[in-house]
Amino acid sequence: MLTLGTPLSRIAFITPRFLKSLEKLGLRTVQDLIWHFPSRYEDFSQIYNIGDLEPGQHATICGLIKDVELRRSFRRRMAIVEAVIEDETGSIKAVWFNQPYLKNTLKVGRMMNFSGKVGISESEIYLPHPDYELTTSSERQETKHTGRLVPIYPETRGLTSRALRFIVQPILKNLETLREFLPREILASMNFPEINEAIQNIHFPLNVEEVEQIKKRFAFQDLFLLQLFNLEQKLRLAREKAPQIKTDIEYVREILGVLPFELTTSQKKSLWEIIQDLEKDHPMNRLLQGDVGSGKTVIAALSALIAARNGFQAAFMAPTEVLVNQHFKTMKELFLGIAKKKPESYLPPLGLLTASGAKIFFPELNSESGPKKLEIQKKILSGEVKIMIGTHALIQKTVKFNNLGLVIIDEQHRFGVRQRAELVGHEARSMKHETRDINPHLLSMSATPIPRTLMLTVFGDLDISVIDELPAGRKNIVTKVVAPENRNQAYGFIKAQVLSGRQAFVICPRIEKSEMRQETWKDINMAEVKSVKEEYEKLSQKIFPDLKVEMLHGQMKAKEKEKIMNEFRDGKIQILVSTSVVEVGVDVPNASIMMIEGSDRFGLAQLYQFRGRVGRGEHQSFCFLFTDSEGETTRKRLEAIVKAKSGFELAEVDLKIRGPGEFLGQSQTGLPDLAMRGLQDLNLIKASREAAVKVLKTDPALKKYRALKERLDEFSRKIHQE
Ligand code: ADP
Ligand code: MG
Repeated sequence: MLTLGTPLSRIAFITPRFLKSLEKLGLRTVQDLIWHFPSRYEDFSQIYNIGDLEPGQHATICGLIKDVELRRSFRRRMAIVEAVIEDETGSIKAVWFNQPYLKNTLKVGRMMNFSGKVGISESEIYLPHPDYELTTSSERQETKHTGRLVPIYPETRGLTSRALRFIVQPILKNLETLREFLPREILASMNFPEINEAIQNIHFPLNVEEVEQIKKRFAFQDLFLLQLFNLEQKLRLAREKAPQIKTDIEYVREILGVLPFELTTSQKKSLWEIIQDLEKDHPMNRLLQGDVGSGKTVIAALSALIAARNGFQAAFMAPTEVLVNQHFKTMKELFLGIAKKKPESYLPPLGLLTASGAKIFFPELNSESGPKKLEIQKKILSGEVKIMIGTHALIQKTVKFNNLGLVIIDEQHRFGVRQRAELVGHEARSMKHETRDINPHLLSMSATPIPRTLMLTVFGDLDISVIDELPAGRKNIVTKVVAPENRNQAYGFIKAQVLSGRQAFVICPRIEKSEMRQETWKDINMAEVKSVKEEYEKLSQKIFPDLKVEMLHGQMKAKEKEKIMNEFRDGKIQILVSTSVVEVGVDVPNASIMMIEGSDRFGLAQLYQFRGRVGRGEHQSFCFLFTDSEGETTRKRLEAIVKAKSGFELAEVDLKIRGPGEFLGQSQTGLPDLAMRGLQDLNLIKASREAAVKVLKTDPALKKYRALKERLDEFSRKIHQE
């Protein structure tokens, strides 16, 4: 009897050479192998009379071998085996190339099945390299290559579907009885086959309808586990302790009163949701979702102030130094504005920490200093600095907080989906203060809208606040794909805009011109990709010699980058040529033009982010997309950007074009293929969620569901390891 854990190397009928090929596919145990599902099936289920065959048919015939011959082709000395097969209705020739050994397999006088596509040559039908199989009985279940729906596996070199069928079928026959972990009532209500039937029949199904239902079952089971995992995570957080941060509403009112603008309705609603979460004694785990430019930063700043006002520290993390510097500056200006209008308002010391340096701003003294890292670490540990803004530098072991109450993560999608579990768990935890068992509240923010299907699954453990409106007075961004011949016209337009006081971004996919020798097409292609340095030379010297043009890219020193960004923000630079370092979060309301070179080289979400850099003030803004690619996909994608009214809409399109794996930004999300595809099936997702809620409600500890509990523990371990 074989178990799921039996190594394939211990199965006698698998040859060492074949074993190697299996290993290359990552298939080592019986479980690996039988979970390597067919990618499709060929329907050879109907057995035809030879006399009825027609060219082009996929058919199985069952007949007697009358003659077998091996010969070599004249010119290429290729082995050709020809057999004549006969039944009561007629005879047909079957032909195989390069398989001389068939001469011995196909013995005259044997009854065999042959499956293949009927071909025609010189007005005679024949079977080119059909699959063949001895017929020991007429029972369907006994065959594996012919006379049935035949599984076709995703193939790699040295591993044909035929060979896989050869080993999969006997393994399935000798397999232990598998334990069902899906609750019986779920199987019944979903009309799913139980596991043993499912695994047998996904390889050797009787009909196509059956396959669909089995695939659904396998997608469902992983979605169901994911739902349980998320729900448990939620329940666990609900049991954990967090500092209760009671909001001083008077204080919030005072601050709101002196902001340079009024919050939008959905900003207010989101802030209110956060305030309510902070008051609870278990950790908040909330995602603030809002389109680019919808004003998430001010909500983050207010939340941090609320925590500080209560004596807690807040850590505000962003993915790039450019962004960290901007947030620091925004916050500082906010503080200065408040101090000016309401000098008696409480304002805490504000710190910055990145790989390239540290800063502290004391609002009371209106003074800023650049302390050594060690010094700021001391001030973080002593609790003197209340709000820390920083990159990943904030989560180094050397940084210890005194009493961290709130962690904010900006542009959380940039930290990668797989890291998200870590951000919620590990990172927050590593920033935990002295008192062991208290976790900070967590607020993450993202402008990459997450389609509903993913929201209900992959991100199912989060509470969501949505800012679904832009501040009043924003105009639509006019977006155009510009043909190469209209380039000069675009430059003329940019010049006019700049002369009327606006600023422009020019985004390039690369930093430097390719120095590769242009020998292959690929190289030539690469060389045409616009580089920041080249474009900077060209724009500053030839196109806009009388305008102030600067460049920005990742190879520059942090100080330099900061200087350039500051000058751009202050309007001293008119045109900024940059790589994708300005992709996320950068906020310069006076900029009204976003020009993107090689736009086919960026992802949809990225392009959307670029475009979101403009249209942030009262000025009509424009986004020009340049591309040299004329491909269909490029056209489709750019069209999606031009048309997209909101990031949410775009995300749905993006998910459809690229599929969940690519969309999530990582080919492996820990989910098997079928479940990944299931991520697009809203009905299945809803069903899995409802089922999970129901099970946990009736039996939170899963006492009655031992097999399920074990599977879930295994699933959690896997996710945590990743
Ligand atoms: P994002 O949500 O993309 O992070 P930001 O927080 O950078 O957006 O905000 C974009 C711009 O909108 C900033 O200049 C900010 O000061 C401004 N802003 C935010 N909220 C409002 C509001 N309610 N009314 C007017 N302007 C606002
Ligand atoms: Mg932002």
